[in-house]
Amino acid sequence: MDLNARFKGASAEQVLAFAAETFGNRLAFACSLGLEDVAVVDLLSRLPRAPRIFFLDTGRLNPETYDTLSALRRRYSLPIETYFPRHEAVEAYVNSHGPNAFYQTLELRKACCAIRKLEPLSRALTGADAWITGLRSDQAPTRTGLERFEIDNAHGGILKINPLADWSLEQTWAHVRQHEVPYNRLHDQGFPSIGCAPCTRAVGPGEDIRAGRWWWETPEHKECGLHAKDPSPKTPQETR
Ligand code: SF4
Repeated sequence: MDLNARFKGASAEQVLAFAAETFGNRLAFACSLGLEDVAVVDLLSRLPRAPRIFFLDTGRLNPETYDTLSALRRRYSLPIETYFPRHEAVEAYVNSHGPNAFYQTLELRKACCAIRKLEPLSRALTGADAWITGLRSDQAPTRTGLERFEIDNAHGGILKINPLADWSLEQTWAHVRQHEVPYNRLHDQGFPSIGCAPCTRAVGPGEDIRAGRWWWETPEHKECGLHAKDPSPKTPQETR
């Protein structure tokens, strides 16, 4: 894509400034409240006009994640919208399969992520021409080769912008510490990557940073589908 050539060597700040200027209110940032994402919030707060910021509340998050949301709200005067799953879909899933059925099969795990994450994401991106993520290319084997600008076919071909694609974990920590950005205190307790509480555990010394996410699955499956290249899988309700 031409934009990747044009912004080769540019900073994350320059990428975000371009995105905000180009897309205005048709740009949105999907903030997971992870380390990278709080760094992006800090970068966005320095722009003359920040884009929409939204957060997906799956209903299964750790208390520390909500504390992070509150701390960010206090620190920055940026509105952060929350999107919840459709309650009918959650009720149907839990009534059919049980509250923790995601441990049983990959299919049930993906169905839970589809209800609690993918559908709310699609709703949050309605009307957007571009969205921002905090993805980094060295976070996971599934993210190797990640570029700063991608076409997101899973969401109608809009532009997906990954300003931290070439940042290292050390660089991300350096930014957060230097600017005293509020972050999830679970990061200090062995949780380099934080998702839903029942699907995230602490990792040990030397373990991969994504090892604690869906730890019962093999590495190539360790994605919830938010960053899939193709259109989202159907939820159980849609396949009936
Ligand atoms: S991470 Fe776990 S609890 Fe969260 S939506 Fe996916 S399967 Fe459900």
